[in-house]
Amino acid sequence: MLHLKTVDPEIASLISQEENRQKMGLELIASENLVSKAILAANASIMTNKYAEGYPGKRYYGGCEFHDRAENLARDRACSLFGAQHANVQPHSGSQANMAVYFATLKPGDIILSMNLSQGGHLSHGSPVNFSGIIYHAHQYGVDLKTEVMDYGQIGEMARQIKPKIIVCGASAYPREIDFKAFGDIAEEVGAYCMADIAHIAGLISSGLHPTSVGVSTFTTSTTHKTLRGPRGGFILCDKEWAAPIDKAVFPGMQGGPLMQTIAAKAVCFAEAATPQFKTYAKQVIANARALATNLTGNGFRLVSGGTDNHLCLLDLTNIGITGLEAETALGKAGITVNKNTIPNEQKSPFVTSGLRVGTPAVTSRGMKEDEMHRIGDWIARVLTDSTNTRIQEEVRKEVEAMAGQYTIYPEINP
Ligand SMILES: *Cc1c(COP(=O)(O)O)cnc(C)c1O
Repeated sequence: MLHLKTVDPEIASLISQEENRQKMGLELIASENLVSKAILAANASIMTNKYAEGYPGKRYYGGCEFHDRAENLARDRACSLFGAQHANVQPHSGSQANMAVYFATLKPGDIILSMNLSQGGHLSHGSPVNFSGIIYHAHQYGVDLKTEVMDYGQIGEMARQIKPKIIVCGASAYPREIDFKAFGDIAEEVGAYCMADIAHIAGLISSGLHPTSVGVSTFTTSTTHKTLRGPRGGFILCDKEWAAPIDKAVFPGMQGGPLMQTIAAKAVCFAEAATPQFKTYAKQVIANARALATNLTGNGFRLVSGGTDNHLCLLDLTNIGITGLEAETALGKAGITVNKNTIPNEQKSPFVTSGLRVGTPAVTSRGMKEDEMHRIGDWIARVLTDSTNTRIQEEVRKEVEAMAGQYTIYPEINP
């Protein structure tokens, strides 16, 4: 850090201010987490200095012997962690992992059946503003508007009618368990491929706390940086028969040189996620989300679908009389970072919204447990019941800082 301070004091200062923000605040964004120092070290390493286009043993550049071994470790560890036959660890992000699967299976104009973004899906699942909705023809399912959970009978009916080439499942804002087997069965029945995007819940699946998609869907795509607690990036899992088309779709199909420092960090992430300590962590993530859900319900909030099975809750703020945007802003001033989110049957624009998504992966990484979740829930209620009251925001901010200050952002899983 000293050196960076000398070379570029402006950037050094911004990094240090950001570190302080992460230390003094509470991160409740459901897609964020905190990496270990080991992952940080690999991700910031001299592995970045090398071009390694191609795959281990078949590179387009010399001098890749150590990169080959690092990538093989990452691939083998990913396969063993998820019980998969083949892993591609090169996608720069989750969206690119999805792009590679589309490139390997679809032609422009082919039909995708996926979950609506406004009801929990992801941009890369066929949103009209994303490449996936521009190149392909997306039909979308949502949740049942009464129960606010997926209705596999309805989804099966849609699949029989529109005959998609691929069915995409997995979500960004869905608090309940996803039945990947049901999706796999529907896909098989209509002769479609199935892609399960486990970006959010990968760490719960690898810990055996959510049913897996591996073995029941043709492809599994994911990020490494959400519940899996790794560096920012993506990966793809599939059977051996799909290894060659998937690898070709990633390189040369879609990317040039892989980010080898990130692949080294992914290898560390997969090793950490295989430890018993990580499993304990993942269990606590779910226990904390349940505690927060119980507290918020007790404080008068309505939870979409009535609760949570995973690492996040989706709040419907309609009865509180404020928008998602107002809630996000007010909580931000109190040191609690969340994001506004659309809810099923949303009446407002995606920039305003009626909902709020709160997740526990990051605060759990810092070692917080149920008691802290109850304190956080009470703070959220205090701020949101009088959301323009700056005095309350200031009071809560002080209390948040006092608690956050007691928890490091580097709680080593393997000390
Ligand atoms: C986060 C997420 C992604 C990918 O995110 P990137 O920002 O591209 O890494 C893909 N699918 C789902 C369901 C996600 O939640």
